[in-house]
Amino acid sequence: MNELSRRGLLGAAAATALAPLTASWPAQAAAPLAGKQASGFYRYKVGSFEVTAVFDGLRTIPLPDNHVRGISKQEVSDALGAVYFDKDNASTPITPAVVNTGSKLVVIDTGIGPAMLATTKGAFGNHQSNLEAAGIDRNNVDVVIISHFHGDHINGLLTADGKLSYPNAEIMVPAAEWKFWTDESNSTRSPEGQRPNFANIKRVFTALGNKVTQYEAGKEIIPGFTAMATYGHTPGHTSTLVSSGSATLLIQADVTAGTALLFVRNPGWHGPDFDGPMAEATRRKLYDQVVADKLLVQGYHFPFPAVGNIDKDGGGYRFVPAMWSPSI
Ligand SMILES: [Zn+2]
Repeated sequence: MNELSRRGLLGAAAATALAPLTASWPAQAAAPLAGKQASGFYRYKVGSFEVTAVFDGLRTIPLPDNHVRGISKQEVSDALGAVYFDKDNASTPITPAVVNTGSKLVVIDTGIGPAMLATTKGAFGNHQSNLEAAGIDRNNVDVVIISHFHGDHINGLLTADGKLSYPNAEIMVPAAEWKFWTDESNSTRSPEGQRPNFANIKRVFTALGNKVTQYEAGKEIIPGFTAMATYGHTPGHTSTLVSSGSATLLIQADVTAGTALLFVRNPGWHGPDFDGPMAEATRRKLYDQVVADKLLVQGYHFPFPAVGNIDKDGGGYRFVPAMWSPSI
C-alpha cells in the first residue's frame, strides 16, 4: 500500500496541501451564501445553427411503488443507486431546446409552463425566465415544434395568466398525436394515468385557436428539421432530426422519459410510457442507430444541459454528457 492510501486521502490533503495554504490565508469576514441558482441555458453549434438548451427545472418526489411496471421498488431503488441517483427519490429534469437557424427561431417543446412555478415552489416552470436570461424574446419565435401532448411539453405554450407564450409563432404538432388526443372516445382506450391528458390538451389547444398546424412524421417540416416517428411514449410521439451542413443533432424528446437515465440504462423497463412494449422497441431501435452513427442527442429529461452521446453498455446504454465548452 502506498503512502497516500495508507494515510487516507483526506488526511494526506490536510497534511500536505491544505495546511500550508490555510496557514497563510488572512482572516476574513464570512461571505453571505448566494442561496440562488444561476440561470439555466447552454449554447452549442450544429453546423451553422445555434442551439440553446434552456432549463425548465428539476422536480424530485419520493420514489413511487410503481415507478417501473412489474419491477419491485427495491430493484428500482438499487438501479437508481447504480447510476448515482438518489435511491429514495425520483428526479425529473426538463430541458427544452431552441434552435436559431440564422433565418428562423425555432422552439422545440415548451416546458411545463410558468403556472407551475408557484405550485412546485420554483422547481418547475423556469423555462420562460431562462429564455429571457438567454436573451431570447418569445415574440421573435417563428415556429414552435411540439413532440407530443404531455403537459410537461405543451403547457408552456401558455403564460401563467393563460395568454399565448409565442404570439407570433406557428405551432406545429404531430398529425398522429393530434388525431389520437382530439378524439375523446380514445379516453377509455387509454391507460388510466393518461386520461387526464385529454382535458388538458383541450384547454391548451382551444386557447391557441388557428395558430396550430399539423406535420407528418418522416418529412422535412421546415428546412433542416426532419420529423421522426418515435411512437410508444405516446401514440404520436415524434422526435426531430436537426441538420446543418454535415452536422446532425437528434432532439429525442421522451424516447426515454421521466427519470430518463434509468431507462437509458434499462431500456426494457417500462416507465411513464403510454404503450410500454412499443416505447421499448422504439428506443432500442433508435439508440442502436444513434450508437452506430455516433449521433449527438439532446434529451428532454436528461440532466441539464441534456446533450451528449449514447453508448452501448451491456444489455442497455449509457449517456455520455457533452463537455461544457466556453466557446460556441
Ligand atoms: Zn416529458
